[in-house]
Amino acid sequence: TRFISGRTPTTNAEAFERALVVTPGGVNSPVRAFRSVGGTPVFLASGHGPYVVDVEGTEYVDLVGQWGPALLGHAHPDVIAAAHEAVARGLGFGASSTGEVELAELVLDRLTLGEGASERRGIEKLRLVSTGTEATMTAIRLARGATGRPLLVKFAGHYHGHSDSLLSEAGSGIATLGIPGSAGITPETAAQTIVIPYNDEDALAEVFALHGDRIAAIITEAAAANMGVVPPKPGFNRLLGETARAHGALLIVDEVMTGFRSTAAGWWGLEEAAGSGYDADLTTFGKIIGGGLPLAGLGGRAEILDLLAPLGPVYQAGTLSGNPVAVATGAAMLRGAGPEVYDRLPRTARTIADGLSAALSAEGVAHTVAWAGSQFSIFFRPDAPQNYAEAQDQHTWRFGAYFHAMLEHGVSLPPSVYEAWFVSAAHDDAAIERVLAAAGPAAKAAAAA
Ligand code: PMP
Repeated sequence: TRFISGRTPTTNAEAFERALVVTPGGVNSPVRAFRSVGGTPVFLASGHGPYVVDVEGTEYVDLVGQWGPALLGHAHPDVIAAAHEAVARGLGFGASSTGEVELAELVLDRLTLGEGASERRGIEKLRLVSTGTEATMTAIRLARGATGRPLLVKFAGHYHGHSDSLLSEAGSGIATLGIPGSAGITPETAAQTIVIPYNDEDALAEVFALHGDRIAAIITEAAAANMGVVPPKPGFNRLLGETARAHGALLIVDEVMTGFRSTAAGWWGLEEAAGSGYDADLTTFGKIIGGGLPLAGLGGRAEILDLLAPLGPVYQAGTLSGNPVAVATGAAMLRGAGPEVYDRLPRTARTIADGLSAALSAEGVAHTVAWAGSQFSIFFRPDAPQNYAEAQDQHTWRFGAYFHAMLEHGVSLPPSVYEAWFVSAAHDDAAIERVLAAAGPAAKAAAAA
């Protein structure tokens, strides 16, 4: 009874106070802490459509969207129904189940475009895991196993989860906290990751000129969205593929954020349609693929995926991998995200972003809206950054005031200037109106900061 009060917290302050006693920083993922914006994090009790509700009963229009999975909004009836049906059959078996096959088929179907001679496949096989971190961690092990080489090239400001090799100059929480990486990673491991600036052809050429025969893979976010939104320059992803191939290295494209969001076929599909298609050897998925439950995936060329155990020498496994409830919610999410969803998302995002931008301009706040498909974020600098150094070169101090004014007016933003904003297909006119009503006061607060 020392810790157990038997009473569920009813205010955000009480919840946070108690959380601080039992959990480091009061949170189970640092991006949820209000470290850079200050104040007490809200503890959410429920979500429905475009809204989330905290333990005090306050409702917010949500522009976090579970950091990506809530493509159809919160508690979508079809997704919830799929979860209920699956739960009733048991929570998991640690044995194969048919839902895993069906989910992989849905994904492969989306990642296959065109027909006959012009057919293009983004991936040929898929292994399911539980988190994006696992997907990228396995991808780099597979790349090293396939090539027999040690080195990894990543871009500054890109985030690929929290495995040892991938935290150097990472985005997301590492950027928010303003730290270069993580303690607890051996210098030997850190030295095997070479970090170069994003969208920089010269740096890419140079790193391959110096280390080309020791590089196992380049890993890149399909379109960077963990330092704010910074899309690849046109043709940059293709250049990455060509450069890797020319040197016998692999290209790993991380679609944990963009997958099934930018288009039905993710960022890959967007570039295919734009005529700037690229060939990734491995592609990682997360977030939307699980419909909100812990599920992620690693796809790629069959020849490489088949190097995984039990067929090949690269080991990877998981008690919870392909969990039947998670594959059911993921499949329901993918089945529910038809063409009308992909048509609606960019229009909703545009309406919201235009309104926010107009309000900021009216207050004379220097800013820009950066885009990657339907994803956007606001930078407090006049032009869109192309890399991490530029993303950091903004009036970051304005964001805390902006964030809290938004929250006071019923809009929940990611609590960091370095995160993308998420809209869902459930953001209807009423939700959009509420965001736009908050835009003026938030812009005033940003101007006064
Ligand atoms: N890759 C990207 C591009 C991400 O945005 C994230 C998480 N935001 C991850 C990987 C890690 O996924 P997870 O948090 O599920 O481990």
